[in-house]
Amino acid sequence: MQSLYALRRPHLPIACAPNGWGHRMNLTGKHALVTGGGGGIGAAIAIELAKAGADVTITGRSLGRLDSIARTSPRLFPVQMDVANEDSVRDGVQAAIGARGPVAICVANAGIAEGGAFARTSLATWRKTMATNLDGAFLTIQACLGSLNDGDWGRVIAISSIAGVRGLKGAVPYTVSKHGMIGLVRGLSEEYIGGNVTFNAICPGYVETDIVRNQAPVIARRMNMTEDEATAYLAKGNRHRTLLQVDEIATAALWLCDEGSRSVNGQCIQISGGQV
Ligand code: NDP
Repeated sequence: MQSLYALRRPHLPIACAPNGWGHRMNLTGKHALVTGGGGGIGAAIAIELAKAGADVTITGRSLGRLDSIARTSPRLFPVQMDVANEDSVRDGVQAAIGARGPVAICVANAGIAEGGAFARTSLATWRKTMATNLDGAFLTIQACLGSLNDGDWGRVIAISSIAGVRGLKGAVPYTVSKHGMIGLVRGLSEEYIGGNVTFNAICPGYVETDIVRNQAPVIARRMNMTEDEATAYLAKGNRHRTLLQVDEIATAALWLCDEGSRSVNGQCIQISGGQV
């Protein structure tokens, strides 16, 4: 029997009935671009988008890392691109659009996290963090949006952090850059309001990726503890005291790409095992 939902919306196939959205997701024919797609959260999102049928451009500085992820699916396409470099972003996004068409799903994920006491933070560290996390998101989103026509369907997702909604001790530049990414999607959601493109941020707590793995020895040294203790210390930063896994972030990103999420706009989705 046809569901009421499909009857009310006859343009949608019966498979789009609102039960088990993950199974009905079909992004075939859509071009997605994920920065920092060579590992961690970006790779997990890219792989899930490809499983849903999208052709996914994955970008990063290390072509080797991108290539090894791209080998896992014929729908993943590596493009070398440094998000902190305007020319590189312009050339990379243009090459991706030339090969696979306008970018309908843009995931600004590339980022770095360098900790340290504010008093000893150099201007170089500050600028590098802003250039990668914030300028990188600005340049990527602007270049991707430019490929869409008025009325085209689109999803822009910025991977911010819980540091986008509250201060993180020992990480002031990171905190500022991640707050900025939320401002970016909020501003864009207002500027494009009423259209078919939504702009949202995902704000994860501590996720088990290289960023966290590389922080553990630094924290261990600074706080005079073992690396295992340092990892447990980081996990305590999540409300459920458990490190998140990348599939939890990818699931949220996929949900934002669903047709049923079309009115979720200008939001900041926190994933941290509880309230941040
Ligand atoms: P990873 O270190 O695994 O991924 C970071 C990615 O960003 C890498 O693929 C890296 O690729 C890319 N990158 C870094 N600098 C640049 C650059 N200048 N140009 C292009 N790509 C760049 O860590 P995560 O997967 O954890 O991080 C992904 C995002 O998630 C980041 O924005 C991070 O801030 C955010 N996040 C992570 C959390 C965590 O606990 N792990 C928590 C909250 C947010 P390459 O080096 O090849 O360029």
